[in-house]
Amino acid sequence: MTTRTESVPLVDLGDGNPMPQLGFGVFQVPPEDTAQIVLWAFEVGYRSIDTAAAYENEAGVGEAIARSGLSRDQVFVTTKVWNDDHGHDRARRSFERSLERLDLEYVDLYLIHWPAPAAGRYVETWEALCELKSDGRARSIGVSNFLPEHLERIIEASGVTPVLNQIELHPRLQQPELRAFHSEHRIATEAWSPLGKGQLLGDETIRGIASAHERTPAQVVLRWHIQLGNVVIPKSVTPERIEENFHVFDFELTADEMEAIHGLDAGDRTGPDPATFG
Ligand code: NDP
Repeated sequence: MTTRTESVPLVDLGDGNPMPQLGFGVFQVPPEDTAQIVLWAFEVGYRSIDTAAAYENEAGVGEAIARSGLSRDQVFVTTKVWNDDHGHDRARRSFERSLERLDLEYVDLYLIHWPAPAAGRYVETWEALCELKSDGRARSIGVSNFLPEHLERIIEASGVTPVLNQIELHPRLQQPELRAFHSEHRIATEAWSPLGKGQLLGDETIRGIASAHERTPAQVVLRWHIQLGNVVIPKSVTPERIEENFHVFDFELTADEMEAIHGLDAGDRTGPDPATFG
């Protein structure tokens, strides 16, 4: 396959491992199409893939890696343990099944998908992830959808800080307090639904900035994330959009443009509230 030379910046995770700042998300990519779509993403130049046990398409991600001709160390793979598999032993078994479906010997990043606080087992689950990190089969470990109170509990119980928290984050939900907490604790912020599921791309402010740069609204939103230092994982099943979303490193938003997008925060979630979900 052709390999583009354009390179994605690497973010230093708190444990010393690097992670591409831009990756490709596969939530709601149909299992039967996943291998082909991830292969398109590899051709464009993406090298980081975000999947989860709950997406039921880990096998397609694994197939794409095997067919791509890329070596294992050229690809960064993230997967996640689902809410039903919280608890020490269940989480470990779920990890084994993910590895089997991915047909890999290790993952680069393993995340707890949601804290599911009502079940009360996320601390125990985190302890299982710490063991997987010690084994070397999860090179880095982190969480998703954790609020400060959940982060504090796992750090205190284990003494291990997650390297990253993957949270819903886009111009209509900017999460300033949570991002400040991450900075204080050296936790990388990864944005899920970085495009607000595509719903905010018609916004007048974003469209105005896009036309000033002769870029698309999606590129402007992704560039905003990149300039804030967020890791982003836009999803698309459309070849032109997969390509468009990758080309966000050759232009820059001005301070005024960043400020204008800052003004769009409305605290609007597209997904569930982590305080109650699961
Ligand atoms: P995104 O913000 O990435 O938006 C995806 C939607 O936007 C799709 O409908 C896609 O359409 C459309 N789109 C993509 N690119 C463009 C473009 N250039 N122009 C116009 N429309 C575009 O939302 P997701 O919810 O998919 O989030 C991204 C990833 O984040 C997921 O795939 C998953 O990996 C992760 N995630 C994690 C969660 C968690 O709880 N940890 C929860 C949700 C997501 P189309 O595909 O038809 O082209």
